[in-house]
Amino acid sequence: MRYYLFHFILIVFFISITTSSFAALQLEGSPTQSGLLRGHIDPGEQVFYADQQLKIAPDGSFILGFGRDVTPQQSLTLIDSDGIEHIHKLTLKQRKYDIQRIDGISKKMMNPSEEDLKRIRQEAQQVAKARQQDSGRLNFQESFIWPVIGRISGIYGSQRILNGEPRRPHFGIDIAAPTGTPVKAPAGGVITMVHKGMFFSGGTLIVDHGHGLSSSFLHLSKTLVKVGEHVAQGQQIAKVGASGRVTGPHLDWRINWFKQRLDPALLVPPMPKKN
Ligand SMILES: [Zn+2]
Repeated sequence: MRYYLFHFILIVFFISITTSSFAALQLEGSPTQSGLLRGHIDPGEQVFYADQQLKIAPDGSFILGFGRDVTPQQSLTLIDSDGIEHIHKLTLKQRKYDIQRIDGISKKMMNPSEEDLKRIRQEAQQVAKARQQDSGRLNFQESFIWPVIGRISGIYGSQRILNGEPRRPHFGIDIAAPTGTPVKAPAGGVITMVHKGMFFSGGTLIVDHGHGLSSSFLHLSKTLVKVGEHVAQGQQIAKVGASGRVTGPHLDWRINWFKQRLDPALLVPPMPKKN
């Protein structure tokens, strides 16, 4: 009996030493604030980020995203096939964001009424719910394309000081385009929210690309798809507009990894010249 127990312990010890040195966590590219990180693990392994177990695709790939102002010191925990933890430390590249001053904004936009605030809160909950989707879709693996080609009129992370008051940073990328310009799906996915007219964002559409990654399109004049509909990359899903609180027609495109707001510009090649 004693002999067997001793033997058993030796074997477990041996396996844990040999496999732990092979525990494989591969990360693609360099991690940055407001960026998406793609990684890969071997079968039987698990990876955790901030107590959240990351969804692993059948090919072992996973994603995670970092918000605008997250602390540069981050870590991932890999649990190998023997249940042994490996801490993987990351240092994110820090970004600098633009600060813009805009004056002459109307009082209605600056100070919404009680009734408007109630509506704003309800709409924010609808958006948050759509962005909580944790589907197994694999569209996040596609190489994203621009939903609209045009002049970039607003960038991610910029913070506006309206009439002297610092406001929430801008979390989308604005592409100036005439009302009616087709908006194409930057990657495939399923439509998780369609709203004809939200207080701030007007006509709004959300597409789930899988594993918590979603695209939101704001200020639309028209939506061409329904909730639950599957769309392919490049498919027309909406039309550019100037709905909601805006000064002119443009597409505001946002990317989320769950609640983390990412910079869409980091997912696509440079904006091509319009012709
Ligand atoms: Zn915008």
